[in-house]
Amino acid sequence: ESVDRKIFELLGLKEEREKDSELYKVFSEVFDKTTQETLEYMKKRGYIDTLFGVISTGKEANVFRGLDKDGNQVAVKIYRTYTTEFRRIWEYLAADPRVGYLPKDIRKLVFIWTRREFKNLQRAIKYAVRVPEPLAFRKNILVMEFIGNEYPAPRLKDVERTLSLEEFEELYHYTMRVIERLWKRGEMVHGDLSEYNILMWDKPVIIDWSQATVSRNKMAKTLLYRDLRNITHYFAKKGVEVEDPSDKLKELVGE
Ligand code: ADP
Ligand code: MN
Repeated sequence: ESVDRKIFELLGLKEEREKDSELYKVFSEVFDKTTQETLEYMKKRGYIDTLFGVISTGKEANVFRGLDKDGNQVAVKIYRTYTTEFRRIWEYLAADPRVGYLPKDIRKLVFIWTRREFKNLQRAIKYAVRVPEPLAFRKNILVMEFIGNEYPAPRLKDVERTLSLEEFEELYHYTMRVIERLWKRGEMVHGDLSEYNILMWDKPVIIDWSQATVSRNKMAKTLLYRDLRNITHYFAKKGVEVEDPSDKLKELVGE
């Protein structure tokens, strides 16, 4: 009962009328004690004041729109603590030279995963890549800059039907320059770059950095190739004259 109360308070809901709201359903489904406590901590620190609106419900995380204590919009990514993606997360973390001891407890593994996304965002910003500014993280919750105004910014996938060939060409080159700068100067790779993880805003904004890693990771070249292949594939379908991903890979890794 007290859990419900706190959820409602946080969500700014009026119990009687909004018990069936989508927000409440998603929330109570992913809400466990740890998440509740972590949200309370975030609220105490002013990072989150209210949550409203589910932006996305994914396999490993849900993203909410919220307000901080000053009324600024924030995006709140809450990782599931009981994810079925355990194996994948474990494999990715085990290969990352930045990550030390790996706990057996899935929840603690998710905390490391969350922190790693925060660190990746910070690192990408250092190399002048437009990403949501990371604001705070704790346990399985990441708070970041909200991209959008009233609504979240559309993904490239959402607006592709409205784009001209010239716009696709420009976006292709922009994205390839990002991949290149990240690899050469940032010594890192995104690893899941696609039309679903690019938000169309002031500039294209690259999101979803949980699987990103450093170039000295033994999986890094595989991830780099995956990004190059996905991006060239996508833009080729849109009529852009693209480079060969294998050639580009060789050029970047210098082999
Ligand atoms: P997933 O692992 O579920 O794909 P993402 O980080 O890609 O997680 O986020 C899922 C969706 O949430 C995105 O496609 C986007 O629509 C929205 N989203 C994520 N981060 C932000 C943000 N900072 N601002 C606005 N919308 C966001
Ligand atoms: Mn995504």
